[in-house]
Amino acid sequence: MKAKIVLEKARIVGALGLLLCTFGTAHAQAKFSFATTPGQLPKTVVPTSYKLSVWPNPKTLAFIGTELVSINVTAPTKTITLNELGLVVTHASLDDDKGGVQIVPMVKADDKAQTLTLTFSKTVTPGKHRLVINYSGKVGLQSQGLFAVKYLTPAGKPKLMFGTQMEPTDARRMFPCWDEPAFKATYQLRTIVPQSFMAVSNTPIKREDSLHNGLKQVIFAPTPPMASYLVVLCAGEFEAYTGQAAGVKLRVLTTEGKKAQGAYAMSVMEKILPYYNQYFGVKYPLPKLDLIAIPGGFQGAMENWGGITYNENIILFDPKTSSEAAKRTIFNVVSHETAHQWSGDLVTMAWWDNLWLNEGFASWMADKASDHFNPEWHVLDHAVAQKDDILESDSYTTTHPIQQAVGDPAQAAAAFDEITYQKGEAVIRMFEDYLGEGTFQAGIQRYMRARKYSSSTTADLWDALGQASGKPMALIAAGWTEQPGFPVVLAHAVPGGGVLLTQERFAIDTPSPKPEFWQVPVTFTHQAVGGPTSGGLLLPGDKPATLAAQPGEALDLNAGNRGFYRVQHAPALFAPLAAQVETLTPSSRIGLLGDTWALAKVGRVPVASFLDLADHTRNDTDPAVNSQTFGSLYEINGLERGQPGRAAFQAYLRGVQAPRFATLGWDAEPGEGSGNAVLRSTLIGELGALGDPAVIAEARRRFAAYVKDQSTLPANLIGPTLGIVGRYADQPTYNQLLTLAQATPDYRQKVRFYGALSGAQNPTLAQQTLNLTLSPQLATIPQAVIQLVAGVAFGGEQPDLALSFFRQHQAALLANQDALSRVFAIPALYGAFSDNAHADELAAYAKANLPPDAAPQIAKTVSRIRAAAALKTRILPDVDRWVAVHGKTASAR
Ligand SMILES: [Zn+2]
Repeated sequence: MKAKIVLEKARIVGALGLLLCTFGTAHAQAKFSFATTPGQLPKTVVPTSYKLSVWPNPKTLAFIGTELVSINVTAPTKTITLNELGLVVTHASLDDDKGGVQIVPMVKADDKAQTLTLTFSKTVTPGKHRLVINYSGKVGLQSQGLFAVKYLTPAGKPKLMFGTQMEPTDARRMFPCWDEPAFKATYQLRTIVPQSFMAVSNTPIKREDSLHNGLKQVIFAPTPPMASYLVVLCAGEFEAYTGQAAGVKLRVLTTEGKKAQGAYAMSVMEKILPYYNQYFGVKYPLPKLDLIAIPGGFQGAMENWGGITYNENIILFDPKTSSEAAKRTIFNVVSHETAHQWSGDLVTMAWWDNLWLNEGFASWMADKASDHFNPEWHVLDHAVAQKDDILESDSYTTTHPIQQAVGDPAQAAAAFDEITYQKGEAVIRMFEDYLGEGTFQAGIQRYMRARKYSSSTTADLWDALGQASGKPMALIAAGWTEQPGFPVVLAHAVPGGGVLLTQERFAIDTPSPKPEFWQVPVTFTHQAVGGPTSGGLLLPGDKPATLAAQPGEALDLNAGNRGFYRVQHAPALFAPLAAQVETLTPSSRIGLLGDTWALAKVGRVPVASFLDLADHTRNDTDPAVNSQTFGSLYEINGLERGQPGRAAFQAYLRGVQAPRFATLGWDAEPGEGSGNAVLRSTLIGELGALGDPAVIAEARRRFAAYVKDQSTLPANLIGPTLGIVGRYADQPTYNQLLTLAQATPDYRQKVRFYGALSGAQNPTLAQQTLNLTLSPQLATIPQAVIQLVAGVAFGGEQPDLALSFFRQHQAALLANQDALSRVFAIPALYGAFSDNAHADELAAYAKANLPPDAAPQIAKTVSRIRAAAALKTRILPDVDRWVAVHGKTASAR
């Protein structure tokens, strides 16, 4: 097979040679240089080490800080500017060159620029100096800088812990600093906390001393040089589940009563740390790595070097209540954050415009590690199904390149989107496939060795991969990170045999997007005379390429589905492929289904082509294929909301999914694979959402038993059962769910029960859920507030109710949210609509209420709503006609 690929590549060398001369529009960004890295702060004063002391008071939620920063001044200056936000500076001083102390005469904070400027009476001379700043600040409940989380012990006792979240630009809220990633320095932290607290930072504790008044001082070892956004400080009454791997001390830290639930995450760490040491070719450099499970406070996880913070929802595993899907999420998230210990922490993107180097890479690595250790999960099939969503998102002309200019903190925060993460991941996977696993790994090892303890740009990555492979990677790859969007590869049948391939940008919201071209690594298989063959070629820019093929052959032009492109086959080429869809690999089936739905959505093929193809796979029990097919069909179900054809469409879908579910049943067979467990939960949830009476009745029966005895429901069935019961709840059932939510002290269970009741379809109950978001019991879990309102809008299908409630109470609801949620919580609710009136309303709302930085995200949502409105008008009559014919066939089967 390898030889075949070489031959196929040789055949298009002529075209590639041409391309190298003509396709010079993509100018790869330069390699890392500190002086030319973008940023707001002058580069003539550079911190080299911080000694930082922070004393937070759990009662007053105020803190006192002091820092001693060693700086290197490279040009004479009368001012020093660094970042600071919301702190009160009480003293600042700088030593002079002769060892004396010079008091700083003037300190000026600029809240808009988030800076602190120190102006000196005489010029600060080049050389090394020491800066001392004393200050105070407030501990917030939102996860920016130093924050507090209130939680309940298993006995229901209220407690508090401290945590930090610095990325992207909130370290400046805990201490004045050069808060830009290229300013790497060492950090030594000291804190004062109650005796009962355990304090955790990036490095091990160097010293701990008892103080009076029930307090203690904790001093940590200095860190290696690192970016300010990686500083971590957590303190609380923690328990530790301990382990070790590759000579590194590992702990999962939890609040009281939960350490046993850290066992699964520990088993993941013990596997992947040695795996990463080997993959990256550079050993994890710190003596310890802690995983800190925070009960609320923030969503997701943060890769602070040596002390990763997680919302406990995605790190703790309780065999009694956590599902198989939760286990896979934990593996993936732990792998993602641990990959950052190299990609992000050891080697850091120079500036936020290269955030994808951190996030795309960690996302890709997490799937790679998950797949390596759990082949039975078919991780890469699920990854390509998720990629299809990103292709969809990247099809709007409002999308942006993976690398985009970032000027201020708001833009840095907005860069954490699906293009940075998942498109970045998909592009890396495409080039790993193109170069081959071994060559790609050699390039990554070269990159890690060259850039460790320093910074990098995308050019450094392409350079290392180019050196490892001998290919002009900057030229080949730059178009994928510097241009918005992606291509559709058009396959035209050549009369008498052969296939001509061309490309154009694929767009949903305009018939003629700005022309862009990519160098597309195309991998293909086809049923040639004498057996299947496969190969690869690089489809160059605006020039076509040709492939040998016999008429009637099934030609898969994204074999393995590793390419970030769509394929449109001419009808003569599509028919044989569609007829043999079940012979393709799951990844390729997902690609064909996803491409056909996308092509139907933009009117390039009739919607019946997609519905026929999806119907053809009705016996397919692959969980990833099911999620791809059902996802598209459920999107149509969403467009049918309030339309006359919905009942028939849902009946058809039930007719497709019910037989699939019947082969599995409600209860697990002994020894069945984990794929069945995932598929079963998914199908129960899907049939429940479609109103399947038998599934709803059985869910209610099982819930009644669950209310009496929570051990009656296996972990994998709790989520879908609660979801169905909540969706079709009457008042007594709603009250039962609410009682469960209020009674449990466990944060994760609480969020789960509240989530179930937010899906209630009954408008009276939906209103009750909305009212709950203002109650004091939810005030301490601010992220749950947003989830509940979104649950009413999307799951409960009451977007008007949710939106008007949110707008009416936005001051209270947004009080403790982070910056991004404050801007985007309301626009996100508009995503539940598919009519032009709401698109207009959102545009007007944003203009009057949101900062200009929000404009790209708003434009994206507005174009999505408009596209959905147009799609509804265009395809629903065809869908309804198709269902009228095939729905009958389905029920007759
Ligand atoms: Zn990440």
